[in-house]
Amino acid sequence: MSKIKIAELFYSIQGEGRYMGVPSVFLRTFGCNFTCAGFGMPRGELSRETNEIAHRIHYYKSYNDLPLVSTGCDSYASWDPRFKDFSPMLTVDAIANRITEIIPHNEWKEEHLVITGGEPLLGWQRAYPDLLDHPKMAGLKEITFETNGTQQLTPEFKKYLQEWARWKNREITFSVSAKLPCSGEAWDDAIKPEIVREYEEVGTAYLKFVVATEQDIADAECAVGAYRSAGFTGHVYLMPVGGVESVYILNNKNVAIAAMNRGWRYSDRLQVPLFKNEWGT
Ligand code: SF4
Repeated sequence: MSKIKIAELFYSIQGEGRYMGVPSVFLRTFGCNFTCAGFGMPRGELSRETNEIAHRIHYYKSYNDLPLVSTGCDSYASWDPRFKDFSPMLTVDAIANRITEIIPHNEWKEEHLVITGGEPLLGWQRAYPDLLDHPKMAGLKEITFETNGTQQLTPEFKKYLQEWARWKNREITFSVSAKLPCSGEAWDDAIKPEIVREYEEVGTAYLKFVVATEQDIADAECAVGAYRSAGFTGHVYLMPVGGVESVYILNNKNVAIAAMNRGWRYSDRLQVPLFKNEWGT
């Protein structure tokens, strides 16, 4: 039976993007191809917050004990190998059972499934069909992959998803948080227009850029040009940087205005004001 290494599995309100406000099960897989240590740092500098946490790792008993960070990737524990032991490898049967336990009425109704990370389209693509075909997942109608947009769908998984959507009349979304230079990742590694355009052959795809400064917004405009040139037709969202409220409230209004002025959409991060972005929210 297929297994997936799971950093978090919880039920909450989707705080970002197209499904903002929708009750959702979040399946956070372990592993990412990036580190995004530039978020919240002066351009060219990288966060070292997680190094300090890793030095104190013996103080923490579980994933949920780990501190939140205000710089770098706010879901660092879902990919940093130093924290891998907090993420168990679970069978799809165990995952489906756990999902059934945490959703209201213990069966899918209006809830939406978010497969996030880390980067959920790394090697786990081979395990998702077993999960989605599990009898306890039969009532699921909508699924979003929260991806950084660098991972091509395997031919097998692409075909599976197309058939899952077509024959079961289901909705698939790719929420693509493409990484701009403020993340600390290199442009050529992070901006992959052909890969994102291909997601549109499977379902709805949109771009969601995390920004803080005018330079970030200029970078987003440049990236959107590259995606459009490749034939990408989906919506564009701007979302304020800030995994902690003190950072998030510094620029959310400016980001909303910047999105409005370009005819783009604004994405909040509802989990920050509502739940302080704690683990499991
Ligand atoms: S791509 Fe996402 S999960 Fe991966 S390091 Fe960057 S922000 Fe974190």
